[in-house]
Amino acid sequence: MKITDNCVVSINYTLTNGEGETLDSSEGRGPLDYLHGGQNIVPGLENALAGLETGAKLDVVVQPEEGYGLVIPEAIQTIPVEAFGDIEDIQPGMQFQAQGPEGQVQMITVKDVTDEGIIVDGNHPLAGQVLNFAVEIMEVREATAEELEHSHPHADGEGCGH
Ligand code: ZN
Repeated sequence: MKITDNCVVSINYTLTNGEGETLDSSEGRGPLDYLHGGQNIVPGLENALAGLETGAKLDVVVQPEEGYGLVIPEAIQTIPVEAFGDIEDIQPGMQFQAQGPEGQVQMITVKDVTDEGIIVDGNHPLAGQVLNFAVEIMEVREATAEELEHSHPHADGEGCGH
């Protein structure tokens, strides 16, 4: 069966960045299931897998525009340490949930701690990065009606509790 919209696809994958560092992998966790056409994975990878079948292996290079987006400079801000309330000992690399401009929850990463305040980055940690995926397609099946309604796969066709 070929991968088209509304298929559930299981893939083994390894994601490396431009320096060859492994960022993420299904190894040791088992394959990742996603709903094709459900925007579960980055568009560049989803597009590359369309039309393929079980057993196919491929390397996909995804540019930032088709991955986690470009780095938005305005998302890097200096905020006063008081904004962190009771949180002490703030260190670069720490992540917090913050409220975005439209009230949405977004993750921010502490880039630096300076005398002027805390420099935080609201960009996705992989924004601006070229993503190298090594993928093997393990299984392709039709999605169930419930999976389509939820826009994500359910393990072994079972419900997900919502
Ligand atoms: Zn669900």
